Amino acid sequence: MTIEHLMGERLKALRDEQQDRRFFALDKSRELGPTRYKERGTGRVIDVWCTNDYLGQSLSPTVSDAALRIIAESGVGTGSVRSISGTTSVHLELEGAVAKFHSKEAALVFNSGFICNESCLYVLGRNIPGLVILSDEKNHASMAHGIINSRAEKVVFRHNDVEHLEAALKSIPVERPKLVVFESVYSMDGTVSPIREVVALAKKYGAMTYLDEVHAVGMYGATGGGVSQELGVQGEIDIVQGTFGKALGTIGGYVATTSVIREFLIQHAPGFIFSTSMPTGVIAASLQSLKEIVDAVELRKAHRANVQKVRDLLELDGHVVMSKASHIIPVFIGIATLATRATALLMEKHRIFAQAIKPPSVKSGQERLRITPMPQHSDEQVQRLRHALAEIANLSPARKEARAS
Ligand code: PLP
Repeated sequence: MTIEHLMGERLKALRDEQQDRRFFALDKSRELGPTRYKERGTGRVIDVWCTNDYLGQSLSPTVSDAALRIIAESGVGTGSVRSISGTTSVHLELEGAVAKFHSKEAALVFNSGFICNESCLYVLGRNIPGLVILSDEKNHASMAHGIINSRAEKVVFRHNDVEHLEAALKSIPVERPKLVVFESVYSMDGTVSPIREVVALAKKYGAMTYLDEVHAVGMYGATGGGVSQELGVQGEIDIVQGTFGKALGTIGGYVATTSVIREFLIQHAPGFIFSTSMPTGVIAASLQSLKEIVDAVELRKAHRANVQKVRDLLELDGHVVMSKASHIIPVFIGIATLATRATALLMEKHRIFAQAIKPPSVKSGQERLRITPMPQHSDEQVQRLRHALAEIANLSPARKEARAS
């Protein structure tokens, strides 16, 4: 049997179980705004309810202008990795702005949030002798990969379970260095971690903390610094990790931390050292978006109001909303084939895009639709979503059970 033959069989099995990932090609435009995309081929206009461009920043004209200005001036690619000739003044300016944004000494930008997590945790696990990494079971794949690749000793604690975390911390000899790795907002479940409690435990047991604020940056806190900012514990976190790819509407990842840790990463992180740096156009766009996000108080308020409205209506209609803790609304489906059908039906009949979330993003049996309202969604769009979801709800046994009880 050839390798391709083997792959073909595996792909067929995935398709048969409808566990495969499917793309829809949808084009954005300024004309349609951030909540509506045009379907490739048919030209149909689709309401989008599953983007991580939570605040619509990707279409901010001033963000685009910042990119266009610098591209006109200095072109596109940087032509090298950061340490050769790929560091420009805007790269450093952005890092300065990110450090200030999270009230940290320093920051380091990577080409994506994934590369950042993978690379930083690899570096820590690989280079700190005897390090034990304590990781929440629901941590994103980027963190899981970094930890596994580092070959450091790893302890996985139950999701958001501080008692389990404490038991694990207690069982590790005091003299061993420890790192607690967790997220603030868990993007597939919509849950929010008990940051204060985790920080208190880390202090008690002498552990360092690494917090992924990818889905919270721009969304929580007075200036959008994340949940840790909202709770006033930003200063207590050793390494805050974030992305420009979600609420900031561009692309790239970063850590905000101490100058020593930044320098250590510059010297050791493969994903930083060995990859061409991001184009200045993207960097300038991120810098502009960051400036705008700091002041986007009204946008954050409008966003929360829309999330509340959508969630209340879906609950009223009997949908199983899996968590109410954040701006992410996971609607339980529970069967891959049903989730796939639901997405297809929403798209074909209702011109609504809500991508089915399936393994490996969630466990089998935990399939769901992940609804992410934006401040720009109109009442009319909300009503259309409600009407469409009411129809697909009849496909779901979970919904039927909920109704019967
Ligand atoms: N961390 C979390 C929790 C994520 O959900 C994601 C992406 O979805 C990432 C990191 C990776 O970020 P990026 O999309 O910038 O690569």
